[in-house]
This record gives sequence, C-alpha cells and structure tokens, in this order.
Amino acid sequence: MLLDLKELFVSDGARKSAAYPLDLTGVDVNGEHPFTSPVNVKALVVNTAGIVSVTIDVDFVYSTSCDRCLTPIKREFDYTFTHKLIESLEEEYNDDYIETPDLQLDLDELTTSDILLELPSKFLCKGDCQGLCQKCGHNLNLGDCDCSKAEIDPRLEKLKDLLN
Ligand SMILES: [Zn+2]
Ligand SMILES: [Zn+2]
Repeated sequence: MLLDLKELFVSDGARKSAAYPLDLTGVDVNGEHPFTSPVNVKALVVNTAGIVSVTIDVDFVYSTSCDRCLTPIKREFDYTFTHKLIESLEEEYNDDYIETPDLQLDLDELTTSDILLELPSKFLCKGDCQGLCQKCGHNLNLGDCDCSKAEIDPRLEKLKDLLN
C-alpha cells in the first residue's frame, strides 16, 4: 500500500492511518515460504511538531521448521516498528530516517523489510532440542537410536561399565 504523505509534511498534528492484511505468501526465506497467512498491518503516520514518524504494528504467524530436528513449527509474532520520515536526506545516510522523495511511503516494502530484519535467525522447536542423529536421521527428541550404542570404541567399553 502506498501512503500519500503530502498533508503530513505540511501540517503539525496531521495523522493518517491504515490497517490492512499484507500478503507475504510469495516471500522466500531460505527456500521456504513461511508467511502462510496474511500479516495484519496497522500503521499510523503523525506529524508531531514538524517531525513526521510512522509506527507500524504487525502480527502474523510464521511457519518454518526446527533448525536441528526439522519438525514443523508455527510461531506467532507481534512487532512494533517506528521510523522517522524525511523528504530527502541531505546529510549522509542515516539509518534513523526513511527517505520519501515523492512524498509517498511504500508501506508494504517497509513493513516487509522490518519484519525480515527482526525475525530470529534460528528457530528451534524447543530450547534443548536434541536434533537428528547424524548417522540414521532419527529424531533424538523421541529417544536414543541404536547408533550411539554401536559406535562406542571397545577401549571405552570398560569405562562405560564403570560409569554404569
Ligand atoms: Zn527440534
Ligand atoms: Zn542413529
């Protein structure tokens, strides 16, 4: 959605809001399409004493798989992003400001990049996920496989007996 900001920049106290579902089903993250349902976007742009800022609230479900055991995971996220908007950046590049040269804000693009930057880089089904056996692929959260027993060096057998 494109938000027209013409009035926003000229009048102190001006506000503009938008609320809509954003379809991100086409977004590819590491070969997966994790946004299986629309992202709920609520945006508010305000001019406060000449400073124009946008606050974007999003909530969505993210479907991916555990990085260790590949079990499918669905997580709900709820984020709020705030940016100051400026017509053009005359100073050097500044991360705090978003430039809107034609006085239009591409809300979809900004929201999408905010979300992708904020999402965790790792997903685990649980903090102590045991992962998969590297030999047989067995999900070790469901119990040990036979590989661990079979692989013990005979020289360590004695030690194992002692520990048991
Ligand atoms: Zn896992
Ligand atoms: Zn195994």
